[in-house]
Amino acid sequence: MEIKKGIGVSTGVVVCQALLLTEDELRIGRRAIAAQEIETERQRLANALAASRADIRALKEQTAHDFGRETGAIFNFHLGLLDDPTLLDTFYQGIEKNRFTAEYAVSQSLREYSKQFLKQTEAYFRDRVKDIYDIERRLVNKLQGRERVTLADLKDPVVLIAHDLTPSRTASLDKSKIKAVCIDAGGRTSHTAIIANSMGIPAVVGLDDITKEVTSGDLLIVNGHSGIVIINPDAGALEANKRYEERQAEFEASLKQLRDLPAKTKDGTEITLLGNIEFPYEVDNALAYGATGIGLYRTEFLYLSSEKEPDEEAHYQAYAEAVEKVGGRPIIIRTLDLGADKYTPWQARDPEDNPFLGCRSIRLCLANLDMFKVQLRALLRVSVLGDVRVMFPMVTTPMELRHAKMVLKDVMEELGEEGIAYNPYLPVGAMIEVPSAALMANSYAKACDFFSIGTNDLIQYTLAVDRGNQKVANLYTGANPAVLALIRNVIRVGNRANISVSCCGELGADIEFTILLVGMGLKTLSITPHSIPEVKKVIRSINMADAQRVARRVMSFEHSQQILNYLRDETRKVIPEAYED
Ligand code: PEP
Ligand code: MG
Repeated sequence: MEIKKGIGVSTGVVVCQALLLTEDELRIGRRAIAAQEIETERQRLANALAASRADIRALKEQTAHDFGRETGAIFNFHLGLLDDPTLLDTFYQGIEKNRFTAEYAVSQSLREYSKQFLKQTEAYFRDRVKDIYDIERRLVNKLQGRERVTLADLKDPVVLIAHDLTPSRTASLDKSKIKAVCIDAGGRTSHTAIIANSMGIPAVVGLDDITKEVTSGDLLIVNGHSGIVIINPDAGALEANKRYEERQAEFEASLKQLRDLPAKTKDGTEITLLGNIEFPYEVDNALAYGATGIGLYRTEFLYLSSEKEPDEEAHYQAYAEAVEKVGGRPIIIRTLDLGADKYTPWQARDPEDNPFLGCRSIRLCLANLDMFKVQLRALLRVSVLGDVRVMFPMVTTPMELRHAKMVLKDVMEELGEEGIAYNPYLPVGAMIEVPSAALMANSYAKACDFFSIGTNDLIQYTLAVDRGNQKVANLYTGANPAVLALIRNVIRVGNRANISVSCCGELGADIEFTILLVGMGLKTLSITPHSIPEVKKVIRSINMADAQRVARRVMSFEHSQQILNYLRDETRKVIPEAYED
């Protein structure tokens, strides 16, 4: 038995066998072959091509059978590549002229080929890069005698063990098979963690080297709350875990009863609790946990989860579904926040050196107005279907906010000319998630209808700590006095300007910060839905005057650890059952 401690980012306890996902990245060494090896390499390549063609044909048939002919036709591009005479010629030339191994010849040619696709402006061609990469991987695996472990083929439930997972790959996991996720990399607010959380898959990140300690088939206990992973537990550990699960079930059942009660402090201050979502279907879940609306809809997952850049209709369908499900309650749709750790396939092949400080989010949109306008058109069209609001992420200067609003106005005019209905009074908000915006909140308050504090990014940019890097995860904390001073400033400015201020970062879902945030004057929290009952329970157990006292006291401390200890003590006083282990 071995015990590992990581960062629990999505609660739930799972006892299940492990599946180790081996590194997907291909590393093919360049080795020159001798003249007498040429024929063997040619033959190996021919075999790999034939086997890959057969696999893809079978896949095409199966897909057409399961999902229809049109979907099956996706594989025509793959088959076309494998029969493209020019491409095949470069493979064989690589072997014959350059004396490359078959693997290297294939990899080299396909990577060169993919660059031409990357240069295209049309999304269709850029989307094909992923397919080219897929063919490369398939051929190389055939040549190296490896078969790919595809998660789609899983028969039994497993705990997925991986070095890292991209947010989009996490979003595509099959919940019925993947019972929990444990990864070496990642921090508390990495997007992979956020997705696992919203999908309700227990997850532990920042485990450093779990991929080296676990082999497929090992039995694991994964605790997504405490971050403890037990490898091959003994009978005592299994027994203790059973008792823990029973207590948790009782606690959760008691929380469910809070669903329809208001999130009101004992002395009557009402706090609005909204849910964060990534996909429209999550609205039901958010409402089931007692959310009174959606305070953050992360629309970039529409891009990450589709094969090609979504068109206006795809945006419209997704937003309309969410708005309809939310049923007249407010829904804040955040415009595209791609970049940093959220990449589409075509961006991923053209990386920036410093992506968190690069062309991400609103910067990316303002630099790609055609793409931005497609999203805004759809958003404006759904604005007449319910209480829709729009929010721009990562604004760093007031000019950026103004520019985004100007584009929105242009799109309104276009729709007006086309006779398409939209809400001309659509509330516009700014995410405050960069220190420059938090410090100068006054300038932004004049230009928008609401603020939403994005603590996930605000913490990383204030402390210069990558939110997804496990090596610096111990430095990443919202309890840092500088972070708290910024949060307090935004709340004060918003309250004085009479605009609503919410917090939609993960800090808002941490019950140890609830008293503090309420005491600072925050009236709205938008959080991961399953945290709503617990946060509500804290709110219903406190007095405003006490919360304000706690907030004042916290601001007098100089060290994060002092603040964390103090907040834990204060929280334990009002909700001791959350601390029973
Ligand atoms: C944040 O930064 O706090 C936030 C809510 O946005 P995201 O996590 O999507 O970056
Ligand atoms: Mg953010």
